[in-house]
Amino acid sequence: MRVEKCDIVICGAGLAGMSLLYRAMKSGLWKDQSVIVIDSIIRDKEERIWSFWKQGKTDFDELIFKDWHHLIFYSNKVERKALKTGQYTYNSISSVDFFSHVFDYLYALPNISFITAEVNEVINEQQYCRVITPEVTYSSTYVFNSIYKKPELRNGDYYLLQHFKGWRIKCSYDRPALDEAYLMDFRASQVHGTTFFYTLPVAEDVLFVEYTLFSEVVLPDKEYTTHLHAYITRVLGINTYEILKEEFGVIPMTNHRFERFDGNIIYLGTAGGDTRASTGYTFTNLQKTITKILDSWEKTGTPFFKKETLGLKQSLYDATLLGVLSRRKYHGYQLFGDLFKKTPATIIFKFLDAETSLWEDMMVMKSLRIFPFLKAFIVAVFWKIFSKK
Ligand SMILES: Cc1cc2nc3c(=O)[nH]c(=O)nc-3n(C[C@H](O)[C@H](O)[C@H](O)COP(=O)(O)OP(=O)(O)OC[C@H]3O[C@@H](n4cnc5c(N)ncnc54)[C@H](O)[C@@H]3O)c2cc1C
Repeated sequence: MRVEKCDIVICGAGLAGMSLLYRAMKSGLWKDQSVIVIDSIIRDKEERIWSFWKQGKTDFDELIFKDWHHLIFYSNKVERKALKTGQYTYNSISSVDFFSHVFDYLYALPNISFITAEVNEVINEQQYCRVITPEVTYSSTYVFNSIYKKPELRNGDYYLLQHFKGWRIKCSYDRPALDEAYLMDFRASQVHGTTFFYTLPVAEDVLFVEYTLFSEVVLPDKEYTTHLHAYITRVLGINTYEILKEEFGVIPMTNHRFERFDGNIIYLGTAGGDTRASTGYTFTNLQKTITKILDSWEKTGTPFFKKETLGLKQSLYDATLLGVLSRRKYHGYQLFGDLFKKTPATIIFKFLDAETSLWEDMMVMKSLRIFPFLKAFIVAVFWKIFSKK
């Protein structure tokens, strides 16, 4: 088999791989590195909407196509709560804009090659790595791998799915105010598990509506369509609309501890544990991980860093929450209802971004029913101590 050598291989040209490469090249840190990017398909046409809250600047602010300053939570009992978001805004980026922006920049650089191929295996050889594709083996000092494989679960690992179908719809009236996004709208049947809608007005006559569930299995396609239509017509009161675009996705929600480093292989994105288990949000954690990698590169010439953003504390909290959701004694709609009713949204965002103090963590805990959480927390701590592969 043909062998090709380079400094860095990036396996997976998705959000993680391309955020890293773009930011490394923009910073000038990798200007002398030869880089090969491998993906089985170049995903530049299929749209995903990446949304996230933030209060500072990000490297992709110019791609935000809409931000919202007013966020609304609707409980399953149809109570409307305007969230106090302080300096936070909720923001959306389209993956089509993201890829067009990063590829425009990266394709022009002479030290990067893009290869379309299936990655069969990535092997750590201690001082270097090998990436096996059907026709070529790539040999490099470092591999950044964001190809996700379902992990082998250990005792105490929960594995739920966040699955959703979203529609971008054109409708001429009766939509929510343009500056107001429904962050979680639980006005939905809960028979399949924790179920809610995101409703984001993106333009005068365009809404993005997503039907989202946290559960063990995905639903037949027809179910998502039926529930989306029922919500748009009966809850939002929009009788005439046209579907402009559709997105479907499944995000793993697991407290499994993903390996970050294996020799010179660095796992990134969902594959590296950057997806927050309790929410599925990935964008912000991933960008923080990339900052750590690039800071380390600047200081030591290597990508290795010690302190994860989502550390042991977050892993225990997520295991607890997934444990509670899995047991279904304290349902997701009740839990999120209590949380948003009693805790300021600014603290919830900080908590989910792993930026809270212990005191602020207590504020979050206090808003929830203590007994289901205490039990699940003890179980999570037990497995953290005694879990073996
Ligand atoms: C539809 C959707 C919407 C989402 N919305 C949000 C959101 O609003 N906010 C948020 O924070 N997170 C969101 N997420 C979660 C997360 O941000 C995304 O999944 C994000 O794309 C993760 O980035 P990644 O690089 O880890 O994975 P991906 O972007 O999926 O990239 C992995 C890449 O690896 C390639 N690949 C896979 N297997 C192979 C192989 N064997 N050989 C070669 N290439 C391979 C794939 O083609 C893909 O391009 C969403 C996820 C989905 C699916």
